[in-house]
Amino acid sequence: MGRQMYIDLDLHFSDGVSEAFMTASKSPSVLTLSIHHAAPGFYPTSPHAALTPVDTPNPFNLAIPLLEGASNDSLHYVWKNCVVPVKDAFSPDFVVLQCGVDGLAGDPCAVWNLGLDVSSAGSLGNVVGDVINWGVPTLLLGGGGYDSPNAARAWAYLTSVACGSPLALDTSIPEHSAFPQYAPSFMLEVLPGNRLDLNTPEYLTTIENNFNELAARIKALCNT
Ligand SMILES: [Zn+2]
Repeated sequence: MGRQMYIDLDLHFSDGVSEAFMTASKSPSVLTLSIHHAAPGFYPTSPHAALTPVDTPNPFNLAIPLLEGASNDSLHYVWKNCVVPVKDAFSPDFVVLQCGVDGLAGDPCAVWNLGLDVSSAGSLGNVVGDVINWGVPTLLLGGGGYDSPNAARAWAYLTSVACGSPLALDTSIPEHSAFPQYAPSFMLEVLPGNRLDLNTPEYLTTIENNFNELAARIKALCNT
């Protein structure tokens, strides 16, 4: 079957998948990596939702918790400095990418502040485009997303990114039975807001440092 990398972009920790594939194997065929929000009491509470420690017994079950207000910039930072090094170390034959969109700006969860635009580093469109550019067979999944018009916008747009021809974000929403719900813009775009991103450079560096060491462990285990 080769190596499979599961990446979860949903606002909530991928507790079910992460725990299903938790294993004592030294070189498992499945690696799970969840990027999510974690805070006391935030669903789903799990000891595995915290930042994966360098000395974890399960270096193929990875967690990157981002704080409130996470912007494209913060997602870009952990994507470039944590997710890509893990991908390079693990060298997956297949990728499963869970595209929960409850981290988009405007979602009723109101925790993160992500955008869609493929040309904006760290947006959901940008990271989906990056995975497609890896050139590995990839399965895209949906996930959370509790503003229905925005979720529909996002999955239509992410599908166009995955197909290699991103729709223009000023594309008009076509007339249909739910058309009034797309007010006031009636366009495809979901713009990030101006809320404060609590992911400080110091916090992001802490995540990066852990993942540098974790990627090295993964690479060593995959090569033995
Ligand atoms: Zn969710």
